[in-house]
Amino acid sequence: MITVTGATGQLGRHVIDALLARVPASEITAAVRDPAKASDLAAKGIRVVAADYNKPETLAEAFKGTDRLLIISGNEFGQRVEQYERIIAAAKAAGVAFIAYTSIVNADGNPMYLGVDHKVAERLIAASGIPHAFLRNSWYNENYVTSIQGGAAHGAFIGASATGKISSAARKDYAEAAAAVMAGAKAGTFELGGSSAYTLADLAVMIGEATGKPVAFHNVAPAEYAAQLKGYGVPEGMAEALADSDRHAADGWLFTESKDLETLIGRKSTPMVETVRAVLAG
Ligand code: NAP
Repeated sequence: MITVTGATGQLGRHVIDALLARVPASEITAAVRDPAKASDLAAKGIRVVAADYNKPETLAEAFKGTDRLLIISGNEFGQRVEQYERIIAAAKAAGVAFIAYTSIVNADGNPMYLGVDHKVAERLIAASGIPHAFLRNSWYNENYVTSIQGGAAHGAFIGASATGKISSAARKDYAEAAAAVMAGAKAGTFELGGSSAYTLADLAVMIGEATGKPVAFHNVAPAEYAAQLKGYGVPEGMAEALADSDRHAADGWLFTESKDLETLIGRKSTPMVETVRAVLAG
């Protein structure tokens, strides 16, 4: 049995689709915070169980009979380390034989605030003694939906990653890689990034070519970027985290030359320009 946590999230749903292409539905468990959101998955023959990272009793029950567990990192900042401790303890108790975890690219040295919990999670999993895979995902192409829409509407967008190259790929690319690792129980550390990298100035050109109007990228200081994001209604913690990520992206921490993603999915990743066109097509 392959169990996927966070299966009702955006990445999780793609992972389930990619797994269905590889294994029968009866061999997949969707371990989700709210089973009511997974009725469509149950209708496909997937076992749906409650698994709230904050409720250890649900985890113990959810992981019974699980051979391989994909832990999709959560998004409740400040609580994630305790959540990972609970998840890994429950996995050990259930006799899980293989764990994969969605981490961050270049996790060994990545100084991003968002990377801190990922490093702890990797350490906890390694210490568990359970054979494992670290899926070190770079950025999603989809992280730039707002920049693409804003750039198209106003002729400009802002960021703080300067000339840093971003090796992003589409969520569904990372999901396919996760499914390949889960179906094959492939242990290892995978640095997962897009087949081609770009700067935000390059992204501005892509948006301009798609709209037929010039689009500019304005690089601003991280503090100013955080302030602007807050002004647009982004919650303070997230605004600071995004500005911090851009600051370190400027130094190349979201860039990788690794071909692990291509190797796992057997094709090139989705180019950013394709995501730009899809976003603008609505
Ligand atoms: P997402 O759509 O926000 O999905 C997060 C998933 O985590 C959801 O399924 C959510 O459950 C689940 N979750 C959160 N707290 C939980 C809890 N206490 N118990 C059980 N489940 C919980 O994010 P995504 O786009 O799929 O990305 C997956 C993860 O990658 C994120 O959570 C984050 O750690 C990371 N991430 C990476 C990037 C990147 O660019 N590489 C960008 C954003 C996020 P519900 O379905 O019930 O909400």
